[in-house]
Amino acid sequence: MAVDGPSGSGKSTVSRRLAAALGAAYLDTGAMYRAITWAVLRSGVDLGDPATIAKVAGEVDLRIGTDPAHPHFSADGEDVDAAIRGPEVTSAVSAVAAVPAVRELLVNRQRDIIAAAGAIVVEGRDIGQVVAPDADLKVYLTASALERARRRSSEHDTDVQATAEALARRDHLDSTRKIDPLQIAPDAVVLDSTELGIDEVVSTMIELLRA
Ligand code: C5P
Repeated sequence: MAVDGPSGSGKSTVSRRLAAALGAAYLDTGAMYRAITWAVLRSGVDLGDPATIAKVAGEVDLRIGTDPAHPHFSADGEDVDAAIRGPEVTSAVSAVAAVPAVRELLVNRQRDIIAAAGAIVVEGRDIGQVVAPDADLKVYLTASALERARRRSSEHDTDVQATAEALARRDHLDSTRKIDPLQIAPDAVVLDSTELGIDEVVSTMIELLRA
């Protein structure tokens, strides 16, 4: 099943809970772009140099956990779970994710993981349209800009206004890039979680799957 949506829409929390409830695997594709970005920043490559970014992306040994209870990631043997959520990676990830060769590499890897898994919940930006157009259910999860900023700032203990501005910047970059922008698949169910709790969103998705 595919769960797409903008930052702070609640995709990660909901997708993990849903996968655990269904006994399914869980794939956080945003974490894959973040882990590649971590490797790019570590290597000191200029973010305006797509050829070298692609080279670093192709060389890094990325291990991707798909257990919803512990979706652990490592890059070149280093545990990156905390570092990929940090501000350096967050502000550079849209630029790295816009490099076509990086997307090609990660989309192929995502398709391999999906093919090897039985049931899997996959979250991202382009899952329903590009990675898994045949998914049995596609959900586009969203929430108001203010609510998304509130959720992110309470997770990271940052100022709501500054978080709202950073999210707006990243949403703009993600939705206006030429290659695979944030997309709503025509056959996706759009769920607005502004006024809904996590449990309500998860149970709505389970109902949709069973419908
Ligand atoms: O979901 P998350 O906020 O962790 O995603 C980080 C970034 O990775 C997004 O801002 C976007 O640039 C990129 N991304 C993407 N395609 C995906 C998932 C994430 O381009 N399927």
